[in-house]
Amino acid sequence: MQIQPKASHFIDGQYVEDTDGAVIDVIYPFTGDAIARVHAATPAIVERAVSAATRAQKEWASWTGTERGRVLRRAADIMRERNHDLSVLETYDTGKPYQETSVADATSGADSFEYFGGLAGALTGEHIPLAGGDFVYTRREPLGVCVGIGAWNYPTQIASWKGAPALACGNAMIFKPSETTPLCALKVAEILHEAGAPPGTYNVVQGMGAVGAALVNDPRVAKVSLTGSVPTGQKVYSAAASGLRHVTMELGGKSPIVIFDDADLENAVSGAILGNFYSSGQVCSNGTRVFVQKGIKDAFLARMTERLKGVVMGDPQDPTTNFGPMVSDQQREIVLGFIEKGVAEGAHLVTGGKAVDGSGFFIEPTVFANVTDTMTIATDEIFGPVLSVLDFDTEAEALARANDTPFGLAASVFTKDLARAHRMAAGFEAGTCYINTHNLAPVEAPFGGSKMSGVGRENSKLAIDHYSEMKGVYVAMNDVEAPF
Ligand code: NAD
Repeated sequence: MQIQPKASHFIDGQYVEDTDGAVIDVIYPFTGDAIARVHAATPAIVERAVSAATRAQKEWASWTGTERGRVLRRAADIMRERNHDLSVLETYDTGKPYQETSVADATSGADSFEYFGGLAGALTGEHIPLAGGDFVYTRREPLGVCVGIGAWNYPTQIASWKGAPALACGNAMIFKPSETTPLCALKVAEILHEAGAPPGTYNVVQGMGAVGAALVNDPRVAKVSLTGSVPTGQKVYSAAASGLRHVTMELGGKSPIVIFDDADLENAVSGAILGNFYSSGQVCSNGTRVFVQKGIKDAFLARMTERLKGVVMGDPQDPTTNFGPMVSDQQREIVLGFIEKGVAEGAHLVTGGKAVDGSGFFIEPTVFANVTDTMTIATDEIFGPVLSVLDFDTEAEALARANDTPFGLAASVFTKDLARAHRMAAGFEAGTCYINTHNLAPVEAPFGGSKMSGVGRENSKLAIDHYSEMKGVYVAMNDVEAPF
């Protein structure tokens, strides 16, 4: 099976190749076979992308918001029409099962283009009346050329979540996908172009960290939005700081799910499944520290073990498969290393824990119980299908322990007690909180992290503030009074 794209990069409205760039083989995680080959951007390609975006941005920003929104909404329609093909591609790129990709990736990208396309015509400034008839008006202006850098777990979604608000505000974007999943963003660029985005408004260049760094350090770039790990975030944030560029940082997490005795058991188990095993655990906002109150712990573990019998591993393109392989052999090794540590540090392995023989980089869904706060599996982001159950007695204890982490991406509470649910949500040190569910990310709601998990928010109206800035214009209606 080969799904070679037309060329490695998409710049200025067309596919562009430069075979001088380092080779990136795209591996299908189910077979381990190379299904495509792209090349990392050379300095000449980076230059071409930045010049095209710099030129195109000025024209794009001169369109009315309504005109820009029309393009984005057309792109949303095309994405929905092609959902099947885009989902198949997402599955090849990532290994995530088609059962997931057909409802969570191009569909989420389309939601983003539709939502921000709808907002584009309504982006305005305000009028501020002052003494003597003077006034200030504000103009919401684009930042300029924005760079998006993606992780490998949601390539279509990340390319869209960054592109849609950026373009709605009149910016141009250069998106660098993860070198592990380079294929899907090219389709996003193609679709935007087909929908009428002028050449150069949305460009894709391939490459490893060095290409990302070259983009982040280019003086013509006004903003960087990264989805990636905390160590990469620290590097990108500090590089952006040298040019005082705007940033959005969507980084890693070690989020808590707190389940009280009075929770609806079935919903709590479903939430913990969504928060640990969806996309085989390769989700930044996963609730990997599952705090379970002592009275419900045995029932929780029994029901979780039972529900995990419903896991169907296999060919991710088969719509009945509901659990895919890890994105790469390397990621599988990293996750297996954490599982070994969990066992070595004394956690009780309830189920799973092994790689699966045969085709694909599979790891069994893994549940540990009797996990303590200082065990490595409770402190470090694993990014694989590993759920840790930690026991607790009281609400105050659960909240303090849930917050005792440098991360702050997501947090959820399962309880039927309304007041306690809201107390916990208020007390969580996390940017994205849930009551009686976990891991939903609709475009209408803000998504992002506190503490080491990030800066800024994606989705919702708030994303507009991260892709535009307000200019204040003072209008004098009176003579200028000067002291001499
Ligand atoms: P990563 O940090 O290794 O890489 C992310 C991206 O940054 C890649 O495109 C990579 O090429 C690029 N990069 C690396 N070094 C760079 C540099 N010096 N300058 C510029 N770019 C550079 O992350 P990953 O392994 O691809 O993804 C997994 C991580 O992403 C996890 O930590 C996960 O939690 C996080 N993540 C966060 C979110 C979120 O929304 N908060 C979503 C998905 C994934």
